[in-house]
Amino acid sequence: MSMSDEERRIARATLPAGLRPETLAVRTALPPSQHGENSEALFLTSAYVQPDAATSAQRFAASEDFTYSRTSNPTVRSLETRLAAMEGTEAAIATSTGMSAILLLCMGLLKAGDHVICSRSVFGSTINLFAKEFGKFGVETSFVSQTDLQDWQAAIKPATKLFFAETPTNPLTEVCDIRALADMAHAANALLVVDNTYSTPSLQRPAEFGADLIMHSATKYMDGQGRVMAGALCGPTRLIKDVFGPVMRTAGMVLSPFNAWVVLKGLETLGLRMRAQSEQALAVAHWLEARPEVARVYYPSLASHSQHELAMRQQSGQGGAVLSFELQGETPEAARAAAFHVIDSTRVLSIATNLGDTKSIITHPATTSHGRLSEEQRRAAGISQGLIRLAVGLEHVDDITDDLLRGLSTLKNR
Ligand SMILES: *Cc1c(COP(=O)(O)O)cnc(C)c1O
Repeated sequence: MSMSDEERRIARATLPAGLRPETLAVRTALPPSQHGENSEALFLTSAYVQPDAATSAQRFAASEDFTYSRTSNPTVRSLETRLAAMEGTEAAIATSTGMSAILLLCMGLLKAGDHVICSRSVFGSTINLFAKEFGKFGVETSFVSQTDLQDWQAAIKPATKLFFAETPTNPLTEVCDIRALADMAHAANALLVVDNTYSTPSLQRPAEFGADLIMHSATKYMDGQGRVMAGALCGPTRLIKDVFGPVMRTAGMVLSPFNAWVVLKGLETLGLRMRAQSEQALAVAHWLEARPEVARVYYPSLASHSQHELAMRQQSGQGGAVLSFELQGETPEAARAAAFHVIDSTRVLSIATNLGDTKSIITHPATTSHGRLSEEQRRAAGISQGLIRLAVGLEHVDDITDDLLRGLSTLKNR
């Protein structure tokens, strides 16, 4: 049978079945246009010309094909397709930021009177979104221990709709048992959502452990070079297409096609970067553990990590690129001064509040990412004034430790 002109024009439009995750991360996308571009095209367009009024009516009614970019965009859809393939879920929906992915989650699944159980160690803005913003609309959230399963169990109510977990957590790298939480949530007729920003599907695929939905801040490792903001929810079609799709079309927290394109290209090197940055982070963690000035290092690949074995099992034997370490002081003020001294003595690392970049970033969580929490909430999350978070990038590892040494070696004689 000879190829039609159309088939001849669109080369290799479909992939064979059974491709491995590394291949899916590079190859999954919508078919190329009639030009056969090898790098996925960037479709910067808000509207799509329809062939005739009847087709237009049909496409608007079905919300399929392309009509308007608040509903769908080819570049964004390529990203969604690739993300779903990487997480091993049926579908994915991209959002403007990681936080707007959680906003979409809440708008899609919760109503007044519903109850959420959330780890108290999750990202600071996540706590605020559940407690403050959705508290305002009559959604109640119980915050429980990241690691104590009995605490989750005890918090279950008849109105519990959602379990929300993040693993490992920011910044203490605490790990929760995804399989155990999924079983508990399902027994309570609730869904388990896992924020997989830190590990990414390259290291951890929560759906394999029973999670119903996977949430991402693609701003971090998926972009990987600190350029754009993006987010996503991955899960079954019945939730992504039928529940979140309509909310997205109405509420409009869509991802810009340009940002989608940047993240799409970032995903092609995600596996390489995650492995390289994890190896560097482990080297820095070992180095920090041996420093007399450092009271404690938090990193899942260290044997000293309290859930080392669980973490290695869930995270493909890798720790990820984020670690934290603690400096002590006689008082919280003294500990903060020591942390500020080490941060301010660096000359290579970026003093910033982000992670997932090729550039290593040093952060003081208590006054930045967790600065909007009350002192009580911060203490409950274990964020001390002497804590420093390091998101390890791709500089030479000796230049990273040399940079930390500038402040550590001069702590005593300030
Ligand atoms: C950054 C981050 C978020 C929020 O994502 P944005 O893209 O900044 O909105 C949520 N969860 C985790 C774990 C994060 O690191």
